[in-house]
Amino acid sequence: KKSGSESQSVVAAETFAPTATRVMMNLGDPELADKYSTLPADGIGLMREEFIWTSYIHEHPLYLIEQGHPEKVVDMLSDGISKVARAMSPRPVVLRLSDFKSSEYRNLKGGDKYEPHEPADLLGWRGASRYYDPKYINAFKLELEAVKKVRNEYGLTNLNIMIPFIRTVDEARKVTDIIRNQGLVRGADFKIYMMAEIPSNIILADQFNQFVDGYSIGSNDLSMLILGCDRNNDTVAPLFDERNLAVKRAIRHLIKAAHKDGRTVSICGQAPSEYPEFTNFLIQSGIDYVSVNPDMVKETKRNVAHFEQRIMLDKATGNGLQDPTNYEW
Ligand code: PEP
Ligand code: MG
Repeated sequence: KKSGSESQSVVAAETFAPTATRVMMNLGDPELADKYSTLPADGIGLMREEFIWTSYIHEHPLYLIEQGHPEKVVDMLSDGISKVARAMSPRPVVLRLSDFKSSEYRNLKGGDKYEPHEPADLLGWRGASRYYDPKYINAFKLELEAVKKVRNEYGLTNLNIMIPFIRTVDEARKVTDIIRNQGLVRGADFKIYMMAEIPSNIILADQFNQFVDGYSIGSNDLSMLILGCDRNNDTVAPLFDERNLAVKRAIRHLIKAAHKDGRTVSICGQAPSEYPEFTNFLIQSGIDYVSVNPDMVKETKRNVAHFEQRIMLDKATGNGLQDPTNYEW
């Protein structure tokens, strides 16, 4: 039997007011989508497709095609994607298309047959460079078929896509042409984003703008490439820091260049999950979305609401917080 004090200890559920900067969540494993859908995230800012391959498909896409089972790719991929899109609906979900490195692809069944040996595969055959390559393009088209199936057959039109690791403007053109020719056309109801994770993406953002609806900053790769630190090398790990001023300036530049053409900017790298104060810098710089790990959603939502209030107050009182030149960044 319950004592009086026990019944009084029931705490009202915390409510989260909407924030101007949307707080999204990064999600890998589709099996966790239902559980995490109860978090107060405004959507999924990064759903890594590689998790679906490793949890459900296990086989290299080119191996499956060669074995005569391309439909297996589409069915299993669309199953995994739809779990997430359904759990989150109507909130938006951004699926990032495959970004395995060759060493990771080699771990999939049949993978060693198709993958080059690359001593520095973080800088190798990954992301967009595969999608138009005659060796991979048929597998890429299956990835797009799965997206179409989820959107058209399952009716989950909250699903959008993101292209990882685009090195050049020409690659952006080639890949977005393929996507459009496969029947996935950008519009109010379907967005195509790109990762901003290579310095060229930042420097040439004014040229990348025409191909996408917006960017998501991959601060893991971006910091690696701006600072020249292999993100997996322990020897230089002390030098790897997403908060370095060079990275911050790159982020500020991107946001300005993207906003000039009405493109949105999000971030899905680890920086705001690891360093909550980094989110303040991002808000101050005008970011539209931050996407954090599930365990950081509530804290980030609280921080964002608090910091936005502080900015409003400072504006009202004439305090200098709103002037970014007052800060190191
Ligand atoms: C990043 O580079 O910050 C990112 C989110 O992508 P990944 O870590 O999967 O390379
Ligand atoms: Mg990356």
